[in-house]
Amino acid sequence: MSLQIESLLIHGGVDGDVTTGAVNVPVFQTSTFKQDGLGKTRGGWEYARSGNPTRDAVEKLIADLEHAKYGLAFATGLAAINTVLSLFKSGDKLVVSDNIYGGTFRILDNVFNNFGITYKIVNTSNPKEVEDAIDENVKAVYIETPANPLLTITDIKAVSDIAHKHGLLSIVDNTFLTPYLQRPITLGADIVIHSGTKYLGGHSDTLSGFVVVNDKELADRLYYLQNAIGGVLAPWDSFLVIRGIKTLGVRMDRHIENAKKLAKWLSESGYVDKIYFPGLESDSGYEIQKKQADGPGAMISFVLKEKYDYRKFFESLKLITLAESLGGVESLVCHPATMTHAAIPADVRKQVGIVDELIRFSVGLENVNDLIEDLKQAIENSIKE
Ligand SMILES: *Cc1c(COP(=O)(O)O)cnc(C)c1O
Repeated sequence: MSLQIESLLIHGGVDGDVTTGAVNVPVFQTSTFKQDGLGKTRGGWEYARSGNPTRDAVEKLIADLEHAKYGLAFATGLAAINTVLSLFKSGDKLVVSDNIYGGTFRILDNVFNNFGITYKIVNTSNPKEVEDAIDENVKAVYIETPANPLLTITDIKAVSDIAHKHGLLSIVDNTFLTPYLQRPITLGADIVIHSGTKYLGGHSDTLSGFVVVNDKELADRLYYLQNAIGGVLAPWDSFLVIRGIKTLGVRMDRHIENAKKLAKWLSESGYVDKIYFPGLESDSGYEIQKKQADGPGAMISFVLKEKYDYRKFFESLKLITLAESLGGVESLVCHPATMTHAAIPADVRKQVGIVDELIRFSVGLENVNDLIEDLKQAIENSIKE
């Protein structure tokens, strides 16, 4: 029976435990497995870095959700990214979205760069810029959409088509929308990456990362690298992410409902100079976003009018928490220039529009009127002297 996404969230992957009938996948808190003789394993399990049944369940689940064949789970989103970047070798180059997660920029710029793997930053929302950046060393296009923190939208199908025309891999970080809203593999992407720390886990209590692919050869190579590098997701954390994913649909629906109301309020409030939210018809990415995803997500970025001091704004918030991360049940705000995107040099930040005044808001599941009230009082208390 082919299930819709709401049912897959609850029954996808491995549904419960066949031996006991437990409705949840057990936590196999074990590092190794007994062999009945040399090479005689029970079901192929040998050592938990190579495979563990709880991790296997979450890996099958994320693959099902992305409408793909193979999933791999990692200790963090960056461990997943590290493993994907390890597909490349010295001399290879990647074309990368101009606003991406700061940690992705950092690992490219300060880790893989040292191994001779280079990158070129372009505005991937304009597919022509992607095509123009391709030379004989480029082996992949790496995008985020909506991108962090400006929520820029890139046309996944257009960019994947360009990548394939030139024999390159198309890699998409799908953290901000999750497979509930967007399934890049079905739009032509070769590799999908997630920080499961965000919406998938959903409760700001577990770090995790995922890689999803449809191609067997690519899956085999990534599995080899996952085991060789070793940044795997622990059994207990695998269980927590499976538990989080069960409510992803209802959480996302409410996240979006709150975000739409808040974005509308903010844009009409007279408090902001700029607002970035792909769910607003006025947003430059609105049409493509609508075409390729089932919703705009719940991340909003904005710049307050000149007369307000963003430092005071952060200090005046009472309900909304100033913290790194996103995608949890609670509303979080952050200051990209000094927090999530501090690893990006100031001149690069400026070039791509991550101004010092930018505020990023992960809209949570609280009552939306409480959130509006908190924003309002914090903004009004932040007027410059
Ligand atoms: C948080 C994040 C990451 C990194 O994930 P970790 O789990 O923190 O390692 C990568 N990409 C995006 C878009 C993120 O928001």
